[in-house]
Amino acid sequence: MKKLYILIPVIFFTANNTAISQCPNDNVLYEIITAPSVVGATVNTLLYGGEYTQINGLVSGNTYRITTCGDNAFDSQITIYKTSGAVLQAFNDDYITCSPQSTINFSPFTSGSYDILIDEYNCADNFVSYITVQITLLETPDPIITIPVVVHVVYANSTQNISNAQIQSQIDVLNDDFRRLNSDVSGLPERFKGFSKDCRIEFCLATQDPNGFPTTGITRTATSHAPFNDDIIGDYQEMKFTSIGGKDIWDRDYYLNIWVCDLDGLLLGYAQFPSTGVPSTDGIVVDYTAFGTTGTAVFPYNGGRTATHEVGHWLDLKHIWGDEAACTGSDLVNDTPNSADKNFGCPALISTCSNGGFGGDMYVNYMDYTDHNCMAMFSYGQYQRIEATMNGFRSPLKFSNGCQPSEVVVAENTNINTTVFPKHTNDL
Ligand code: ZN
Ligand code: CA
Repeated sequence: MKKLYILIPVIFFTANNTAISQCPNDNVLYEIITAPSVVGATVNTLLYGGEYTQINGLVSGNTYRITTCGDNAFDSQITIYKTSGAVLQAFNDDYITCSPQSTINFSPFTSGSYDILIDEYNCADNFVSYITVQITLLETPDPIITIPVVVHVVYANSTQNISNAQIQSQIDVLNDDFRRLNSDVSGLPERFKGFSKDCRIEFCLATQDPNGFPTTGITRTATSHAPFNDDIIGDYQEMKFTSIGGKDIWDRDYYLNIWVCDLDGLLLGYAQFPSTGVPSTDGIVVDYTAFGTTGTAVFPYNGGRTATHEVGHWLDLKHIWGDEAACTGSDLVNDTPNSADKNFGCPALISTCSNGGFGGDMYVNYMDYTDHNCMAMFSYGQYQRIEATMNGFRSPLKFSNGCQPSEVVVAENTNINTTVFPKHTNDL
């Protein structure tokens, strides 16, 4: 389709300012269209810089790719507002794989109509040429997967024997973060918020143990072991073996195992990736000072995000800097801009790998090293890796009934509780 526009020669000003403006919703409406409703379907709109298209029928929970990539008419940037709304919803200028064009993998927080604005770099109008904007429905929400969790508290003193409430606070954070229900997501910089994604995973403390008996989903093991080291290359991870001062794993095919103990030095936690290591060590380990949001958790690692980060690894996510310095590494995810190295604290906008157009390092991503109150999102690309893991290596967990009520029968009308040995927890 050819856009019906009369070309009017204009002299326009191009700013040399390297800062990126997020364009206000003061552009000109070009047309109103309806969002695609079939996965994989695309609708197009042709916009000059300085115009917007209102798109109706965006559905909360769906993920849409809104992109100008592939049309090199001009250095486009995309800004998205809720129609008639004042709060900027999403922004991109120079998506990492198609610079100088733009893409947003947009999962709206609320259903309804949105304005998609196109501007040239730095919000300049462009009345000379138009650009193709494609809106593709990438996916509708997958079913939620609930992963049974067992927390193994391995303690050398009463302080390290953290409370049930502290453990529950951690489960709550995991449930918020992997469902994008964390309240701080609303405070993300717009350039990143538009890429945030509900990862469709929930977590429950196990209600039956590997033998089918009732459980709180928490084990408590006293140890005389000194702080545990991070000998994660070898398999001598003492906190994971009862015989050497720790607690044996519960079958990884039925449970996410989380060991909480005193880790040596400054280590906050670590994880075992899918398809690596041995089954008897599969899970995550978190230091007792970085677990949950209360009790022994210590600022700035008292937001529960160490476990969010480590569960991310356990679901096959890599660090966003790709674990190689100088911008040579990759996390194998397109919508997390590369960075030269880990970030600490809570930096102002920082760009270490020529990601200025994207907005810089995604230091607010759970897979960076920033403070807990600084990180608040996974991206759609990361979700795709999680999804693949749950459909692959970790798929047995989808069939665990570790969070279903125990089938142990306690006889009534007797003085002695009689237990009937339960069936194993696996239905399949
Ligand atoms: Zn990590
Ligand atoms: Ca990346």
